[in-house]
Amino acid sequence: MTCKELIEFLAEYLDGGLTPGQRAAFERHLGLCRACADYLDAYRQTIRVVRATSQITGRCAPPPLPPDLVAAVTAAATRRP
Ligand SMILES: [Zn+2]
Repeated sequence: MTCKELIEFLAEYLDGGLTPGQRAAFERHLGLCRACADYLDAYRQTIRVVRATSQITGRCAPPPLPPDLVAAVTAAATRRP
């Protein structure tokens, strides 16, 4: 396996989508090639950061409307003739 092939297989490797033969070749290359091992580390780190960021974004969803505001709007609407 070449470095280029390894990069192409990276996402599938992390998803567990490689055949046992491809996986063995992938891991053999990682054992021999420092650059690809570093690349895999950086890739995993990126996935972790992206997941953490999307969790934060999820928590930033607008909160439910305060009941006081709903009551005020409802009162204003019903006050109209
Ligand atoms: Zn390599």
